[in-house]
Amino acid sequence: MSEVLLEVEGLKVHFPVRAGVLRRLKGYVHAVDGISFRVAPGTTLGLVGESGCGKTTAGRAVLRLYQPTAGKVLFRGRDLASVGKTHLRQVRRDLQMIFQDPFESLNSRHTVGTILEEPFIVHGMGDRAFRRQKVRQLLEMVGLPASAADRFPHEFSGGQRQRIVIARSIALEPKLIICDEPVSALDVSIQSQILNLLLDLQQNMGLAYVFISHDLAVVKFISDYIAVMYLGKIVEQAPAGQLYQSPRHPYTRALIAAIPVARPGGRGIRAVLGGEVPSPINPPSGCRFHPRCQYARDVCRHREPVLADLAGAEGSGHLVACHRADELSRN
Ligand code: SF4
Repeated sequence: MSEVLLEVEGLKVHFPVRAGVLRRLKGYVHAVDGISFRVAPGTTLGLVGESGCGKTTAGRAVLRLYQPTAGKVLFRGRDLASVGKTHLRQVRRDLQMIFQDPFESLNSRHTVGTILEEPFIVHGMGDRAFRRQKVRQLLEMVGLPASAADRFPHEFSGGQRQRIVIARSIALEPKLIICDEPVSALDVSIQSQILNLLLDLQQNMGLAYVFISHDLAVVKFISDYIAVMYLGKIVEQAPAGQLYQSPRHPYTRALIAAIPVARPGGRGIRAVLGGEVPSPINPPSGCRFHPRCQYARDVCRHREPVLADLAGAEGSGHLVACHRADELSRN
């Protein structure tokens, strides 16, 4: 990867767990536990895993909506923990987020026009005529009529509301958008329309995305590169096509095996793998996946595998954290 827009290094986010009348500290939820990844301009990194794996927390920590416990988030080479207020203001323009629920993330008491004008007002950009012009442009870019500006969010369908959310996220022409499960609340028939809109905007505006989802089929459709998370760790990273064709980690294989049944009415990943994701308060020793892994050996219970190049595929960008990855890849 020649040019890097976002670089996350050893990111950890631990939340304290308190209990009792005195709210004594009982431990920590290891929501994100030392993950690293990079995103190049104009590309998409898919962050995928089951609910509770830490992917949403990681996305929020990048935007500093959660304070990282450790690690660095470098945006265009600058550590976001050390930037001053003025620079942070600029960063907030360049880094945006799209949330899962398009209804909750829109103020129901404001018209769409007011909602889309707000980013320009907050950043002191232009007069009313300029802002109105921008609102018309934004609505056109996301495939909505100019008349949508005078209506309220509740007057739109889920897919249309997500288009409004996307319009607001691109208003200030950001460089990178964190998309947190942006289509999972939508009907399957609408999902592809929104994914295609995101791809069109990426092409036209040179946007980079971190695309967070539990659905590997959706992530594969939109991503250039995919990182698979399990219980706060990245267990496999690879170019999207490679990950899908030659998954190496047993967890990634299970996610892919679950795709045909992960749709409405299907059985889902838990039926394929069996068992629940262990508690992130007391994660399993060694490889965190070992209680659910059919290939686990003694070493897996005691020693944590390192995310590293697969033997013979050095430099390909395909990284796996599994003691038996080389052996299993030959099967
Ligand atoms: Fe399974 Fe062991 Fe590999 Fe973990 S390290 S995924 S337990 S084989």
